[in-house]
Amino acid sequence: MFKLKGIKSTFLSLIIVLGLFSLLIQFQAQWQDKLIIINYLVYPLLIITAIFATQFNRSRVAILCLFWTLYLLSINYNLLWSKWLTANVEWVVLCGASLLMLLALIKDRAIISVHTITRLIFILLCGVITFLWLKTSQNIDSFLPKTKFWLQLQPYIAVTLPLSLIGLLLVWRSLRNNSLTLTALLITLIVWCLNQLNFIALPWSLIAVAMCSLYLLAVSTDSYYLAYRDDLTSLPTRRALNQLALSLGRKYTVAMLDIDHFKKFNDTYGHDIGDQVLKLVAAKMSEVKGGGKIYRYGGEEFTVVFPRKTVSQSIPELEILRQNIATYDMVIRNPKRTDKTARKNKKSDEYKTVNVAVSIGVAQREPKESFDQALKNADLALYRAKKKGRNNVSQ
Ligand code: GH3
Ligand code: MG
Ligand code: MG
Repeated sequence: MFKLKGIKSTFLSLIIVLGLFSLLIQFQAQWQDKLIIINYLVYPLLIITAIFATQFNRSRVAILCLFWTLYLLSINYNLLWSKWLTANVEWVVLCGASLLMLLALIKDRAIISVHTITRLIFILLCGVITFLWLKTSQNIDSFLPKTKFWLQLQPYIAVTLPLSLIGLLLVWRSLRNNSLTLTALLITLIVWCLNQLNFIALPWSLIAVAMCSLYLLAVSTDSYYLAYRDDLTSLPTRRALNQLALSLGRKYTVAMLDIDHFKKFNDTYGHDIGDQVLKLVAAKMSEVKGGGKIYRYGGEEFTVVFPRKTVSQSIPELEILRQNIATYDMVIRNPKRTDKTARKNKKSDEYKTVNVAVSIGVAQREPKESFDQALKNADLALYRAKKKGRNNVSQ
């Protein structure tokens, strides 16, 4: 099953940008007389956004700002290629879209690195391939069958078809990954096409300013997310737990959860399978009821916080969680095996089912106790759970 991790952020961003552009169109009179200032301000803003993005290792956004700067300079000043661009709108639209597609497919590597030359070649290739495609598609009718279907389709083959395919790819990338940078690329494509094809008809410098705001927001939100989310399990980290501790009331219950004999598990199945199991346990933990908040404390240890709950209210939820994990048949993928017998029994060897159990220590915050003390008490309870023989919830 495909997981659409970015569905919420994509739709939310699309709605916000849609709202922003409706406002810009609605209140034209308000920004019309400030357009001269916007025309000058946009360049420093693009540079600031590019520097900000580079600082946060989002080089793709920095490259995007570079493309915007180049485009704005080309249409606002009489550069060598400016006239050619005005005469070749289809190339401009398609080339812009293919550059966005390229950015959605590459990784955020340092701007100046061993990959710089390869990237430049790919960027140039986008321009050349777009040019050759538009030239070829002018005579496409000689290649197509002379049926009604193809005749009707023909006017859309040169520009609409590749734009739609690129659009679909960007929608897919944005929905699949919880990354606002990818969503920002999708929104840029939508705005780029709508304005080039005169659907919204706003000045380009104003659009670039709006896009810069979006990029700044995307880069800072992504970085925040990176700092507070664990890479492997996608659960909030200990840093997020410390943040929560600051806003907890007087009454709450803390539980420490530790996977039993995990070292032995790693030794038997390997670290990669251990990682897969950590992910599955984390996913199971996210199903905890009773308002429990889950954190990866570190390694194979997790923390559950029940705000406003007593220990007796929390234990039943933790007991259900413990049972759910203990009875969960985890289907894991074997790492690639190269020996011949493994390859012969491919199907049966590719997946296997494993089980793990967890011990849970739980403690309610006592009056005047700090969060750290409550956590320590939960840890002591966890120690008791281990001593009792593991796979149980102890107080
Ligand atoms: P106990 O039942 O007493 O908790 O035994 P244990 O082996 O689980 O306890 P111990 O704390 O000695 O070992 C924890 C092991 O968890 C050590 C390490 O191999 C494993 N571990 C910690 N973090 C990770 C991780 O991110 N990935 C994997 N695969 N293993 C991890
Ligand atoms: Mg441990
Ligand atoms: Mg353990």
